[in-house]
Parts: sequence; C-alpha cells; structure tokens
Amino acid sequence: MIAAFAAVVLIAAAAPAGAQTEAITIRAGAALDGRGRSIPDAAVVVQGGKIVSVESGRGGAATYDLRGLTLLPGLIDTHVHIDTHFGKDGRATSEGESPEQSMLYSVENAWVTLMAGFTTVQSIGSPSDVYLRAAIARGVVPGPRLLTSIRPVNENTGTPADIRAFVRKVKADGADLVKLFASKSSREGGTQTMTDEQIQAACGEAKAVGLRSWVHAHSPSSIRAATLAGCTTVTHGSQATGVELALMQQHGTYFEPNIGLVSQNYLENKARYLGIGNFNEEGFAFTEKGIPMKREMFKRALTVSGLKLLMGTDAGAGAHGRSAEEIVYRVQVAGQPARDAVVDATSHNAMSLGLADRIGALAPGLDADLIAVDGNPLDDITALRRVVFVMRRGIVYKNVARSR
Ligand SMILES: [Zn+2]
Repeated sequence: MIAAFAAVVLIAAAAPAGAQTEAITIRAGAALDGRGRSIPDAAVVVQGGKIVSVESGRGGAATYDLRGLTLLPGLIDTHVHIDTHFGKDGRATSEGESPEQSMLYSVENAWVTLMAGFTTVQSIGSPSDVYLRAAIARGVVPGPRLLTSIRPVNENTGTPADIRAFVRKVKADGADLVKLFASKSSREGGTQTMTDEQIQAACGEAKAVGLRSWVHAHSPSSIRAATLAGCTTVTHGSQATGVELALMQQHGTYFEPNIGLVSQNYLENKARYLGIGNFNEEGFAFTEKGIPMKREMFKRALTVSGLKLLMGTDAGAGAHGRSAEEIVYRVQVAGQPARDAVVDATSHNAMSLGLADRIGALAPGLDADLIAVDGNPLDDITALRRVVFVMRRGIVYKNVARSR
C-alpha cells in the first residue's frame, strides 16, 4: 500500500527552488492538462523549474516512470487560513502560544497542504503569512506557493477614505490581495455589514493599486453590492439566488463557493471549536442548516453558463491537507462533471489569482508544478485523495509511486 512507503523528500537547501539544469522526463499513463484536455500516454519534460514540453506517446526513457498514474497540474486552493490550527489543548485557538509555536503550526499546515498535492494556496489571511511566504519562496520551508491578504477590511475599518488608506497600507506591507468582510459570518445569519460605499472604496482602491479583491459575502444584498462594485471575487455566497448568480456572471465576477469541507470540518470537530467566538450552539445550528442550502445553491450555480466558478475551501484548523474533499464533494454530491471540477481547481483558479501565465496547466513555459494521483479523477474523483507524487517548480517533494 502507498501509505506504507516513506515519502522521498528533496528540499532545496543549497539551491533556490527550481534551479536544476538537467532535463527531467516524467511519464504517466494519462495526464489532465488543467484546461480540460486528456493526454494519453503522457510525457512531460521539465528543465530549470519550467515545463519544456508535454507530449503523448513519446517513448524513450523517463526519469520518473509513473505509468498507471494520472498526472495533473499542481492543485490550487484560493481560500485557506494557513495559520489556523488546534493548539496544545486541542482547541481551535492559539491562545497561550508563543509566536514561534504558532509559526511552527503554520509550517506544518504548509507541509501537509503541499503533500496533498496543492502547490499554490491563497491565505485570507494573517500577518504571519508574510514570513511563511518568504521562507517558502526561499526554498527552505517546503510548502505551496503562498499568497496572502495579511489583514482584512471590515465595516469598522472606517470611512471610505480610511478604507482607501488601509488598502494602500496592506499593499505596502506586501499583500497579494485585499480581503473584505462585507457580511456577517454564516453562523450569525450572514447579513450585510459594510455599506455599499465602503465596499466600493475597498474594491475600487484595490483595483487602483493593482490588487485583487476577495469579498466574504453570504446574503444576497452583500453579494450584489460586491458584484456591482467591481470586486474580483465573491467568496462563500451561501445565500445566493438565481439573481445574484446571474449578476456575477454578467459582471465577470469570480464566484468561490465553499460547500464540501469547511462546514463539515466544523461539525466533525465541534468540541474543539465550541465556545470560541461565534462557535456556539446557535452558530452550529446555522452551520448544519447551511450544508444542504449551499449544496442546492451550488447546483443552481452549475446551471448558469459562463459563471466563473473557483475552487476554494476556506480551510481552517482540522481541514489543512484535506482541500481535495471540496472537489470530491462537488462531483460526488453536487453533480459537477469531474473534468470541470479539475479545471476549476487548476486553470480557472490560476486565472483568478492573475497567475495563468505561471501555473494551473500542463503547458510549455509554465512552472513545473505537477502532481500524480493513483487512479484517474475523471473516472473516480477520489483519486485526488491519493496523491503519490508532488513536484513544485521542478523540485520533487513527494514520490511514493515507486512501490507500484
Ligand atoms: Zn475564510
């Protein structure tokens, strides 16, 4: 069995990630290119951390012979909270920890996320992400490419002018995007909190300084306000009706529902969350009611042609390393075609991050972020739970495939 074999891990301690100069050939029984195409008998050549070629039926020797497996671009999760964890008492809080202890949990989350085949994640977001992002980029901490919003905007950030100044400050502090809380938590009913003017100020200023904006919005009015303000992405959207789904489609707003992991994880770990913030019995009742509601909302979203769906999980403590569950749920429970679900988690996500020219597909010139899974996700989406090979920027971080 795969799990019985230790991972072969090569950490680029001396050389920057992706600096290898020898060409590496990876052969697999099949590949999914992340843009909707299947490639039988695939061979991918990698050099200098980049994909050089992607061919079918090439023959010849391979550095990594992954016949029987399926090759995919590294998966992308557009919404995680990489710093969240169960602390020393097993509770979902970092209370009583030193910053060093907290940071090690973040490092652990980065590691399990990479091992699960996610080579890029967007953390939405925490100030400590900045240091983790830098360490991963230096190649000394193994993890996915990390993007972060650092600190969020909410209704208490101030006037529209205050909000614009706040956006410029997080940009100066190194934020990759701006996160807004435009509605209450789903555990508190999800009604709109920021005014339309506040939302316009945040997303308008983000655009002006070259940042994307990601808007937490549950209620219909908050979704509409974010869409009309030209924000990049609406996340959650649990109460979206046909009207809001159509509006997002018309405005080209990305929509990142989270239906298969976050709520389920809260319920599975209820004892670890209960009593912290709004994780009370009333909040959990909302969470439980929300699961079928979000599933039906997502099914409706699938019928809106041209709606730009993303794959983000909102992974918190207990969910890191399990992001693929969102994809499995979308396919198995909500009926999304597997091919579309894979495209959402790769090339569509890359586009929403402004990184389509770097990641999200198996194509020449892109970063060599690729994974192999045991089985073909198009036939059995649970293959995404069985990640046996992970390469990021040409460096192999996991290879348990040789037992086959
Ligand atoms: Zn979140």
